[in-house]
Parts: sequence; C-alpha cells; structure tokens
Amino acid sequence: MSLPVPSASAPFYPAAIAGHDSEAGARYTVRSPATGEPIAEVADCGAEVAQVAADSAQRGFEQWRQTTPFERAALLKAWHGAMLEAKETLALTMAREMGKPIREARGEVDYAAGFIEWFAEQAKRIDGDILPSPHPEKRLSVLRQPVGPVFAITPWNFPAAMITRKVAPGLAAGCSVIVKPAEQTPITALMLAELWRQVGGPAEVFQVITAERPAAISEVLMADARIRKLTFTGSTPVGKRLYAQSAATMKRMSLELGGHAPFLVFDDADIDAAVTEVMASKFRNGGQTCVCTNRIYVQRGIFDAFAERLAAAAAALAIGDPEDEATQVGPLVSQAGRDKAQAHIDDALAKGAQRLTPALSVDGLYVAPTVLTGVTPEMRIMQEETFGPVAPLIVFDDEAEAIAAANDTPFGLAAYLWTRSLGRAARVSEALDYGIVGVNDGAPSVPNAPFGGVKDSGLGREGGHYGIDEYLDCKFVSTRLD
Ligand code: NAD
Repeated sequence: MSLPVPSASAPFYPAAIAGHDSEAGARYTVRSPATGEPIAEVADCGAEVAQVAADSAQRGFEQWRQTTPFERAALLKAWHGAMLEAKETLALTMAREMGKPIREARGEVDYAAGFIEWFAEQAKRIDGDILPSPHPEKRLSVLRQPVGPVFAITPWNFPAAMITRKVAPGLAAGCSVIVKPAEQTPITALMLAELWRQVGGPAEVFQVITAERPAAISEVLMADARIRKLTFTGSTPVGKRLYAQSAATMKRMSLELGGHAPFLVFDDADIDAAVTEVMASKFRNGGQTCVCTNRIYVQRGIFDAFAERLAAAAAALAIGDPEDEATQVGPLVSQAGRDKAQAHIDDALAKGAQRLTPALSVDGLYVAPTVLTGVTPEMRIMQEETFGPVAPLIVFDDEAEAIAAANDTPFGLAAYLWTRSLGRAARVSEALDYGIVGVNDGAPSVPNAPFGGVKDSGLGREGGHYGIDEYLDCKFVSTRLD
C-alpha cells in the first residue's frame, strides 16, 4: 500500500479520479472521533471534478464491457488478495477514521473482501437463456449485459464493506463505478481504489470522488444520463431524495436505507444463548449498524431473567480507544450521532423508563452501553433508529402480539427471533415484514446471501446472485433464420 495510514501529521489523500489531479484543489480535514484531532486532509471535490469522473467512467465502461468475465474475475481475485494483504493497514485506518474497535475492523476487512471473492467467481456465471420458440423459423435468446457506468454513495459505518458490496458486483458485471464515500470515512475508500490500481485495475473503471458536502457532486452525477445506475446506502430521507432525482434520467436504483430492527425472544429460549445473539446484534460497531437490533421484545415468563443477564453483559463491555485490542465499544462517529443516542436515553428516562446499566460519564463521543426497561411506544427510541449502544426491552405475552408490534414500523430491513420451536420459527419468520430475518442468529449477513429491505428500508438486494442482477440489463434477441 503506497498510501499512508492516517495520523497526527494529517497526510493528504488525493481523490482517485482518472484524468484529474486534486493535489492543487480544495481540501477538507478528517478528524478521529476518538480524539477529535485531525488525521488526514482529503480532496474536497466539486461539480467540475464530478464531470471529469463521469467522462472517465464512460470511457472506462466502453473498454471494460469488452473484457471477458474471466479477465474481470482474475483482476477481482487479485484485488481480493491485495486487500487481505493490506488487512492491518485498512483495519487501523477504519479504527482511526470512524472509531471502529480494531478487532471488529479486522473482521470487516475479511467480510468486505469476501464480497470481492464471491463476485469474482460469479462473474463467470452471468448466464443468458435460450427460450423455446413458438415459431420454427425463429430462435429466441436472452443476453445479460452491464447496465453502464454506476454512481455509488456509501455511508461511514462500514467504510470497506459498503464499498466492496457495490463495486465488486458492478465490476464483475462489466460496469464502471464511481464511489462517493461518506465524508467521515474517505480514506478506506481511497485505499481500496489504490489497491485496485496496484493489481492492474484500470483507473477509469473504479474511481473514488471525495467531498465534505455531497450535494454538488451528486447533482452532476444524478443529472448525467450516461450514469445508468445509482446504488445508495444511507439514511431513508436522503435515499428518498435521490429516488426522486433519478426519475429525470430513469436510472436503475438500489437503495439500502435505515432500519429499526425488532428482536423477539420467546419464553422457550435458551436465555444465555439469546443474550449472546442480542449482544452481537445490538452492540457491535457501537450499535451503528443498519441491521442493529433497536427494539427487544421479551416474553413475560423470562423477561426478568433475560433483562438481568443482558444488563450484566452490557455493563461488562469494554469501552475505550478503538486501537486498543481490548476495546469492544468505541466512540460514536460524530457529535450528532452521540447526541441522538443520548437524547433517546434521556427521553426514555424522562417518560418513565428504568436504566439497568451504570450511567457512566465518559468524555468525548462515547455513550455507555445502556439497557432500558419500562419502555413504551411513544418514546423516541421506539419510533426512530437510534444508531447507538442502547437496548430497550419491552414485555409481550403472545406470538400474535409480538409479530404485530415488530411490524408496526415504516421500516423493514432486519428482524430477529429466538425460539427453540421449529413451528414458531417458521410461522414468525414468514409473518415478519422484513428483508432479512435471523432465527436464533444475531449476525445473518454473508456475501452469498441477499441483503436489503422492504418499505422505508429500501429497494433491491446486495450480495449473492441477486446482488449482481442489479448491475445487469436483460436483452431479448429474436433471430429469424430464413
Ligand atoms: P446519510 O444518508 O446522511 O449519508 C450516507 C451517504 O449519503 C454519505 O456518503 C453522504 O455523504 C451521502 N449524502 C448525504 N446527503 C446527500 C445528498 N443530499 N445527496 C447525495 N448524497 C448525500 O446517512 P449516514 O447517517 O451517514 O448513515 C447512516 C444511515 O445509513 C443509517 O440510517 C443506516 O441505517 C443506513 N445504513 C443502511 C444500510 C443498509 O444496508 N440498509 C447499511 C449501512 C447504513
């Protein structure tokens, strides 16, 4: 890796745009959420640079679409290998730019690289179809071709995986991709582009454009009819705005938006195992995960025992410096993120909830892992995505009540349940209005499975063969033989 790890000397990282040198242009400062100190300077690109990126992406697409799937697979495999070799550098970068605990950051590198490996293999399986013909003189076939240049907008909470989950299927399909990473986490994205170039990937095929404020870039690329697809992961309000903007150029859309995941724990559960899965689902990444459990419904018979054990596990989590190997919960990514999580706790306590965990006061952007009981539907935490380490517990009596409460939200990304009954597992998972359901499983995402939501949680799927379909158009060819 020729790019440095971000540090107190705040090195400069140019944007990865083919045909553009951002050395002399505007810059912005990236700060560590753990210390508040500057750790990098990054190019602050605007509309003109976005135009250069779009021109390059179009040229890149014209060349890349001519390559065979086998050539694309070989380059993706090389990129996958380079990423794993750079694991420590990438993990440390994520710990510094977003505050992800270092052990989780290493896990994210493996998870993110897994998408590249899987889609490298899948490139060779973009099969078409031969259809039976009702006319003896005609042959009917279906080709699957790349949609064209793609614009990808990614969030800060998984600075590597949210990029590979979009770029790898795009490149495997034969598209070129421009990524606009979150303003908080541009460096991991730039490192991924650098690794792509180092293994011989064409610079025009995968570009990264950075900016402190995204709107100017986004408006240029959304209005450009040559960009044939938008793939966005982020908040629901921004996703809806982009969805409306896409109508003018009729872009294909994939929208991975917010969640408000329920976790239903039935009274036949193995309580310790259920606590383990709820901990994984609630507290990893400091609760800043779109599929994070946000509401935990526990059946009355085991409520008190479950609450006590969950509170003990949450209180035992090690909070601190993300670079410390022992840390399990780092800082939240921003002041706004910290304030929102704290406001959800304060609002719940003011409306009658009880806190079962110690109210630690830690300086900076940290929020103590918190378990709350006595939570009621009018509390903010029951209406909105918290994106922080706060676990509200709600008691329920029967299956129908739990399903109704779980579905009573505009969101539909991930839901979880814990039961030892096979019948209940089947009934409840079928009745939940969500794109992903974890049955006795608090971490259900893998590269070869579809990931995405319904309702206000978005459109389309990433991962698996479903994920590459989003980057392919199907073309029907009817050939008359005489
Ligand atoms: P956000 O919507 O503010 O930002 C996400 C990205 O959109 C960033 O790159 C940002 O710069 C960009 N953006 C913001 N305003 C824009 C605009 N007007 N035009 C173009 N781009 C714009 O979201 P966030 O707070 O950074 O991320 C957290 C959200 O992402 C949460 O709601 C979370 O649930 C969601 N998320 C969803 C998934 C999923 O797969 N469904 C995964 C991770 C995060």
